[in-house]
Amino acid sequence: MMTVVGCIVEYHNLWLVLLAALLCVSGSWVTARLFLRMAGTVGGQRYGWLFMTALAAGVAIWCTHFVAMLGYDAGVPIGFDPVMTVVSLLIAVVGSTIGFMLAGSRWARFTPALGGAIVGLAIAAMHYTGMMAYRVQGIVTWDRPYLVASIVLSVALSALALHLAMRPGRHPATLMAGVLAVAIVALHFTGMTAFRVQPLLVNGSFSNPEALQTLAIAIAAMSFVIVGAGLVSYLIDDNARADSIERLRRLAMNDTLTGLPNRANYNERLDLEMSRARESKGRLALIGIDLNRFKEINDQRGHNAGDEVLRVLGQRIKGLLREDDGEFVARTGGDEFSALYRMDDADGISDLLARLEEALFKPIQFDGAEIVPGASFGVAVFPDDATDRESFINNADLAMYRAKADPLRNICFYEAGMDEKIKARRSLAADLRHAIARNELSLHYQVQTAVSTGEIRGYEALLRWEHPQLGPIGPTEFIPLAEENGLILPIGEWVLRTACLQAATWVQAYKVAVNLSAVQFVHADLPRIVMEILVQTGLPPERLELELTESTIFADRERALHMLRQIKGLGVSIALDDFGIGYSSLDTLRAFPFDKIKIDRSFFSSTVANPQTTAIIRAVLALGKTFGIPVSAEGIETYDQLSMLNAEGCEEAQGFLLGHPAALADIVSAGQIAVAGENREPKEFSTPEALKQRLQNR
Ligand code: C2E
Ligand code: CA
Ligand code: CA
Repeated sequence: MMTVVGCIVEYHNLWLVLLAALLCVSGSWVTARLFLRMAGTVGGQRYGWLFMTALAAGVAIWCTHFVAMLGYDAGVPIGFDPVMTVVSLLIAVVGSTIGFMLAGSRWARFTPALGGAIVGLAIAAMHYTGMMAYRVQGIVTWDRPYLVASIVLSVALSALALHLAMRPGRHPATLMAGVLAVAIVALHFTGMTAFRVQPLLVNGSFSNPEALQTLAIAIAAMSFVIVGAGLVSYLIDDNARADSIERLRRLAMNDTLTGLPNRANYNERLDLEMSRARESKGRLALIGIDLNRFKEINDQRGHNAGDEVLRVLGQRIKGLLREDDGEFVARTGGDEFSALYRMDDADGISDLLARLEEALFKPIQFDGAEIVPGASFGVAVFPDDATDRESFINNADLAMYRAKADPLRNICFYEAGMDEKIKARRSLAADLRHAIARNELSLHYQVQTAVSTGEIRGYEALLRWEHPQLGPIGPTEFIPLAEENGLILPIGEWVLRTACLQAATWVQAYKVAVNLSAVQFVHADLPRIVMEILVQTGLPPERLELELTESTIFADRERALHMLRQIKGLGVSIALDDFGIGYSSLDTLRAFPFDKIKIDRSFFSSTVANPQTTAIIRAVLALGKTFGIPVSAEGIETYDQLSMLNAEGCEEAQGFLLGHPAALADIVSAGQIAVAGENREPKEFSTPEALKQRLQNR
């Protein structure tokens, strides 16, 4: 009895068997890849892939068989029938085409196995047709059980191979290739075990073993070429697909407006750079960048202008980056950018910052106008300032907010304790939210007197906040906070109402001056609020003075001036506060008839009168005369200053020398103000109707 293994070992040239096995495995591997590519494709391309699959499979199957046959030593001279040999090759290719087409069709759950069975049948049909082409000098008999077993194995294993390929799961190509190779090999050698030859010895042989070996190698080489071609076409296509996937990925990773990497890209890069820095023990800088005036540009000039600004900035940033030095900038939000910089070489960061600053502060031309976007930069360094991703980003943000809050600095480096300060500010803002309701706000009043006579002209209302835990907090600290989050609107209204309410009870008709924030001009329907408060409190409009600084008008000149004219129309007077610092311009004085100019207290900060101060006071007084506006001096602390003002002809003064800001009760008990017990009748000109009329007349 002849076993399969015995058949291989005893009757075959092992080198050729090895060559056949190699052919079988590589052919199956390429077939599996091509088949799966076909199964995943639709349209005309599918037929192309089907053809390649069937060709690779057919050639692999046939060549395995043929080379193994050439390696078979029948012990007698052999020959091949050319027609039957070619037919056997055709059977392998055509049978595979049908089988693979069916297997990849997904018509039903069983079609892969059914298609696989057809491939298995084709392998068997090819083998036995090939055996018919095999001519030996002897009597051939077949061992039936082995013959049946070989066909069953081929059909079952091929069905399994394609079932595994199409079933959802891992490594479909490898499984299919492996099982298919086993199917081919099993069929061949089980089939050969069934093959028996009874030699008929005839003198002289008609086969030449060396010629047969050469033939085997030539056929193997040919089939490697064909299978290789299939493999190459697969790889080229795979590369092209990978290319287009990479392009899609890049598209998804870049912001379309600026062309800079987007947030997802940035996140990936940040992780990468952080682990790089960890490994190389290097340092990494993260720069948070926020445009200063983007919202304003969008609001005032429209979204087109905003887009144009971002586009230009994106281009400029791309132009300035030295990517080889590890510089990276992404757009990480609407008007936010984030930069990464490898600080391998100590302090190249200041160079990058300088380039970024220049790019973001250079004016942009749009619609004939010049836009200067400007930006704030916050820098944190890994691992000095933070060792984990979240606090790294956080700390750069903290530094950036700090830069934003400081009008004198565009760039700010993270410092330890920064978050404590910002946290404290945030909690203060939260407390301020409840300050009105909890009765923590109050007004102090500071007297304003005539310089020449010392007679009282009025009082400036100054806001005070008594924090339940922290004690008194000055307005220079909490007013900017209130302006940042809009709380200044209810607070400002409260100040105005309270000052008018209290002043209305004074027996003397002193003026009351109330400070207004620029934010109140931008958001509130200010003239209407002023009118309503005057009506409700019964304070004659002539007794109210509103103080505002030039920065208020500067923000939105036309709107502010329009509102001021309406308010002035009510009979309320308007004082220009803190004159001489910041934006002071003659234009403002020319554009609006102020009722008073208040020279800023900083001019009197040195207690000894010096020639420069005197010169400035003279200039402002001359200005006041030119425009016909009375001048008042703030922050007067000494008699010298007062007598200088007197000598120069300044009308009014205010300062610690004349009176500290104090609670109304204290001023009343000092006898400066008398308060009427009951509510007096409002005077004729401040009836609601009369006031409404005045507002509408404007
Ligand atoms: P301001 O309008 O210039 O108010 C005058 C400030 O100068 C007050 O400080 C006052 O106490 C201080 N002062 C008065 N006389 C002297 C002096 O002789 N020497 C010195 N060194 N200082 C003097 P205060 O009360 O701390 O207010 C600071 C600022 O807060 C005010 O400056 C004003 O801009 C703002 N502010 C105060 N109350 C309000 C308010 O109700 N609404 C708004 N929007 N701002 C307010
Ligand atoms: Ca003031
Ligand atoms: Ca002032």
